[in-house]
Amino acid sequence: MIFVLKPGVPLEKIEQFQQMIESRGFKTFLSTGTEHNVVCLIGNTAAIDLDLVVQNSDIVEYGKRVTEPYKAVNRTVHPEDTMVNAGGVTIGEGLFQVIAGPCSVESEEQIIEVAKSVKASGATMLRGGAFKPRTSPYAFMGLHEEGLRLLLTAKKETGLPVVTEIMNQTQLPLFEDIDVIQVGARNMQNFDLLKEVGRFNKPVLLKRGLANTLEELLMSAEYIMSAGNSQVILCERGIRTFETATRNTLDLSVIPLLKQKSHLPVIVDPSHAAGLRGLVAPLARAAVAVGADGLMIETHNDPARALCDGAQSLDLVQFRDFMKDIKRRISFEGKRVAAN
Ligand code: PEP
Ligand code: MN
Repeated sequence: MIFVLKPGVPLEKIEQFQQMIESRGFKTFLSTGTEHNVVCLIGNTAAIDLDLVVQNSDIVEYGKRVTEPYKAVNRTVHPEDTMVNAGGVTIGEGLFQVIAGPCSVESEEQIIEVAKSVKASGATMLRGGAFKPRTSPYAFMGLHEEGLRLLLTAKKETGLPVVTEIMNQTQLPLFEDIDVIQVGARNMQNFDLLKEVGRFNKPVLLKRGLANTLEELLMSAEYIMSAGNSQVILCERGIRTFETATRNTLDLSVIPLLKQKSHLPVIVDPSHAAGLRGLVAPLARAAVAVGADGLMIETHNDPARALCDGAQSLDLVQFRDFMKDIKRRISFEGKRVAAN
């Protein structure tokens, strides 16, 4: 249940209203917007007489029941697009960001070369895994702390904010200087991790699980937001289907649907969706056309020798050409790719 407040109500009165509701055993949170502030009630609100609350309050414009199980991430609660500030780069509401970089950080030379090149081509953020979730326990699992350090060196050299994946909450202290914490597909429903990144004051890039529904993705985002962190970016990265010709199947329809249901920015990772570099550009174009707020593109200086996901990685020249084309399409959609 939400209560949309009249414009210009002082914070003190809003807090009194929240306390009154909370004294009846509900949790509330305030969602602030440019036009309206909204008080959202969490809990079983069936016993609340919505009309009575509206009649008895001089600060409420109207009330509404939110039927979906996700509340904080729901567009009903926050009609405007949320803009996420990721290390000085804003994503959402017309500001489009391209995150590029290797699947994993492999060496200082590699990450610096990739960072400089993708920046020159127009990428606005750098990615690179330091802790890699791998299907095989014998595969390369990243450089761990050293990988994070190298990523921060690349940030220093280029000024690009960095995005990297966390595997469990015990690693959080290592992520103090990281700009965006990625919760990967395999951890989308690691609820303890979601709660902890929700208490940590950093933007979170939440990737959709391999076989998770739109509602499950939004409920995972709800875990992060309800723990206090509203800086969440959603990412569609392909789901498991019967099709084996591609690594996953990019679910294009979920992108506009997520944007309708939620106010959070939505980005697309065509690299992990396709698993094939030849499909990255066409799928990225499709993502832009259906309203994505950003892209994540695996890019490597030497894909043939990559320690992870070489087959889906663009090389540096391919990425440069990709950016030339994608920038035109982004501006055709009325959006800007810019570091602010
Ligand atoms: C990644 O982005 O490095 C990654 C492992 O992706 P996903 O979690 O989507 O598989
Ligand atoms: Mn990868």
